[in-house]
Amino acid sequence: MPSILQVALDTPLHRLFDYRLPDELGPVQPGVLVEVPFGRTRQIGVALSLQTDSAIQTDKLRDVLCVLDDRPALSPDILRLAQFCADYYHYPLGAILLATLPPRLRNATPFVADTPWLVVSEAGRTAEPPARAKAQRALLDALRAAPQMRDALRAQKQGRHAAALIAAGWAEWTRTPPQTAETPQTAGSPLATPEQQAALDRLLPALTQFGVHLIHGVTGSGKTELYLRLIDAVLARGLQALVLIPEIALTPQLEQHFRNRFPGRRVMTLHSGLAEAARTENWLAAPDCDVLLGTRLSVFAPLPRLGLIVVDEEHDGSFKQQDGLRYSARDVAVARGKQANVPVVLGSATPSLESYAHALADRYQLIELQQRAISQAQLPTIELVDLKHIPVDNGLTRPALQALTETLARGEQSLVFLNRRGYAPALYCPSCAWVSPCPRCSARLVLHRTSHRLKCHHCGFETRIPHECPSCGNPDLKALGQGTQRLEETLAALLPAARIRRIDRDTMRPRAWAELGEAVHGGAVDILVGTQMLAKGHDFPNMTLALILDTDGALYSPDFRATERLFAQLMQVAGRAGRADKPGRVLIQTAFPDHPLFRYLQRHDYAGYARVLLAERKQLELPPYTRQVLLRAEAPTMEAALAFLQRAAALAPEYAGVSMFSTTPAPMARVANLERAQLLIQSTQRQALQAFVRDWRPQLDTIKPRVARWSLDVDPLVF
Ligand code: ADP
Ligand code: ZN
Ligand code: ZN
Repeated sequence: MPSILQVALDTPLHRLFDYRLPDELGPVQPGVLVEVPFGRTRQIGVALSLQTDSAIQTDKLRDVLCVLDDRPALSPDILRLAQFCADYYHYPLGAILLATLPPRLRNATPFVADTPWLVVSEAGRTAEPPARAKAQRALLDALRAAPQMRDALRAQKQGRHAAALIAAGWAEWTRTPPQTAETPQTAGSPLATPEQQAALDRLLPALTQFGVHLIHGVTGSGKTELYLRLIDAVLARGLQALVLIPEIALTPQLEQHFRNRFPGRRVMTLHSGLAEAARTENWLAAPDCDVLLGTRLSVFAPLPRLGLIVVDEEHDGSFKQQDGLRYSARDVAVARGKQANVPVVLGSATPSLESYAHALADRYQLIELQQRAISQAQLPTIELVDLKHIPVDNGLTRPALQALTETLARGEQSLVFLNRRGYAPALYCPSCAWVSPCPRCSARLVLHRTSHRLKCHHCGFETRIPHECPSCGNPDLKALGQGTQRLEETLAALLPAARIRRIDRDTMRPRAWAELGEAVHGGAVDILVGTQMLAKGHDFPNMTLALILDTDGALYSPDFRATERLFAQLMQVAGRAGRADKPGRVLIQTAFPDHPLFRYLQRHDYAGYARVLLAERKQLELPPYTRQVLLRAEAPTMEAALAFLQRAAALAPEYAGVSMFSTTPAPMARVANLERAQLLIQSTQRQALQAFVRDWRPQLDTIKPRVARWSLDVDPLVF
């Protein structure tokens, strides 16, 4: 009887594929990577189950070509998690499984984990090789001095000497990159504050089983310290901790902080900023690490001894992937915790309304930290500058400028927040009202003066700055509005003595964060200008003023999540001011000082505003009180995109409690020359919505004519 292997492949098809497994290759365990013929190519796939028959005639089945590694690349728990994602996000299992692997493993060139690290063994530390074995001696000395011996080995072709050392028991191969020999400056743990202690008293006993705990703690309340203690408790039981953080919050300082706190433990990172080789290496080594600190994608990392999952800044939008498998790493983390019976700790100063509603309904345990951990640190005062009565010059009001001047005079630091990068949001022709449209999108081209370009922030289109209006020939074009580059220029002119640094996506490379942190801590910066990147967890003790310019767009946006996001953003930015013993001050320029958002902000009342927003959501039947799925379609014409959706709507099964809205153009109707339309489906019952989509999705594959692209977004965050 032939062995038939069910294989998951990275295809858009919602099915698995059968192959004959030649006897000499088998048996294989689920999760092992195999290479198989697929059409006229070869593909890497994931072995799922061995069977004795197939719907396809056995003699038509093709053979598995090779088995890449005997050990499964994907463990049973990851296979199960991927299956959950396939069901919940209605996405092909094969595509999910392959996407969880680092790029090197996923490519058709078999990656053999044959590049381990050579490390000195216990015996090797004191061993004395015979004097005549010079090369061995040298290699052993080098290993003792610097443990990272892989590149050196390759370069010096010392494999033979390595083998001799191993034979003598003085060195060994490991797949775990050794820690750098840097002596950890153990900061030790500070004495817990009473609030932290109360939180620990509730959390520590809960660490033995699944449960979701939401830590709502004001900025600076010591949430990180709390995570560290929980992790400590988990490590003491020989288990592993997974800590998920937003993309741009993962800095070398944070990594170092964790290493310092757990000397002798293996703290590893996983994020998309790592080079492919390093990412593959860390992924392969993850099963042996103690703490994995990573961004979104690490929620799928192999951690056989997982004992705790922490999601820091759980409200952050970067946990949601916006293409391919549109998963929320926070939600998948909760699913993983449940499957593995492991506790999940979510933390934020401004929890998402989804998580907060769970906590208010007692589905999550709510833990509040209302005071800053450093006793002198006060929450900042928040003042509004009313733009209806106070004139603005180049984006700045007099009170704002005065606050900056005073802060500078006291030798303290300020940050100026403007959520628009570039020089100006558009270039404008006063004579014919041309406003630099992107030729490929329904968006404006943003003026970038430093690089002398007009750039589209949606599709990446770029062009030179025209010398005259392309529409009427007028040579006198004006920059319209303020971006961070222009703001930096204005501030430099007004405050010539200030040392100003701008941070936004245009200036920041990952490594630059470390340098910036040092510059700010070292006092080499007076004013930090930037976009929302400023809002992220940095702790600058001498930063006492936060100036917030022009956020009014979000107050009356059609996006129902805009106020939630703005409130979180303002709380976070405000949280940067006055972190240590000096009081902080926040100034917000707005034309709508009466908007209720500001009342709650001024009182630092997250809970109050969250309840207001939740009441609104409930009344309007919006998430988190309903569940949504968005079907998106993109086509060269809007007619085609809408026609596809109308056909999809016509094919929809009837389900009680599931309602379908009408098809509409997307708020950003055109991006990169494709017209975009969408169809929203919602229900108050998650089960009903899931069942509906399960029935509906296969119908979508049959729609003709097809569109350029369509996708289902479960729990969409942006529309
Ligand atoms: P959060 O993550 O809530 O914003 P952090 O964990 O970064 O807060 O803590 C804010 C500051 O308070 C940090 O400088 C941290 O070292 C300090 N801190 C935290 N817990 C304590 C404590 N128990 N005693 C003294 N300082 C603390
Ligand atoms: Zn013109
Ligand atoms: Zn564009």
